[in-house]
Amino acid sequence: MLAIKSFTISPSFDGLILQWQIDATAKYNFEIVRSESPVFGSSAISVLTGTELTDPSQRKDEETRVAQDNRIWYYRVTVTEDNATVDKVVSIQPTNLTISRVILEKQATALKPVFGGRAVTLFIRKTIGPLCPNCWDDRRQRKTKSNCDVCYETGIVGGYYSGITVQASKFPVPMIEKLDKFGIANKNMPMMWTSNYPELKSGENTGDVLFDTVDKRHYKLTQVEKSELQGCLTQRMSLMELSPESIECALGV
Ligand SMILES: [Zn+2]
Repeated sequence: MLAIKSFTISPSFDGLILQWQIDATAKYNFEIVRSESPVFGSSAISVLTGTELTDPSQRKDEETRVAQDNRIWYYRVTVTEDNATVDKVVSIQPTNLTISRVILEKQATALKPVFGGRAVTLFIRKTIGPLCPNCWDDRRQRKTKSNCDVCYETGIVGGYYSGITVQASKFPVPMIEKLDKFGIANKNMPMMWTSNYPELKSGENTGDVLFDTVDKRHYKLTQVEKSELQGCLTQRMSLMELSPESIECALGV
């Protein structure tokens, strides 16, 4: 049954990040409206509309800059799938925005190239979508081939969403030696941090992929620690370098 599992707002340096999770298996239509009152009425402003098949989904409302805001904003997301419609309302308070703004501004400065920041491209791993016709065994409910170039080892067609390029910074950590599942020492496991967009997920078999535009290598996000105030503010990423033969290394190249 169609349901909105969550709908959250978090501040970012250049707008507000709206993120939602839907219980839906097919494409659905959504509309997000903004208002100063929880009674939306005719004064509500339509912020975003579209068709989506992403879980979770995240968009930015770039018209509402944190820096300009000294008011409470209410957002309502309405989701329609076939004949079903559901909605959810959330609000964001100016007090938290002010504190978050200061932190985010400092972060944006610290992530500039002059202070060691670097551009990375993040590929969000799909968790819903059509199953891979090339490698998915319906009877056994699992993938049957490795290095599949249709689903990039995810079992879902396309594997990852289009890359999002953001600034990140590398921690000066010593090289860590760890044996992978094939008993091979994987020495390049750096740590980086970035701001709060896009929100990332981790895990050796479930994590998103990072492409470092400086060293031209692909990494799997094995762990992501998030610091939160109202919503996520900073993300500290543990990375595992993918071997050059990995199918994920074809992403964004
Ligand atoms: Zn496949």
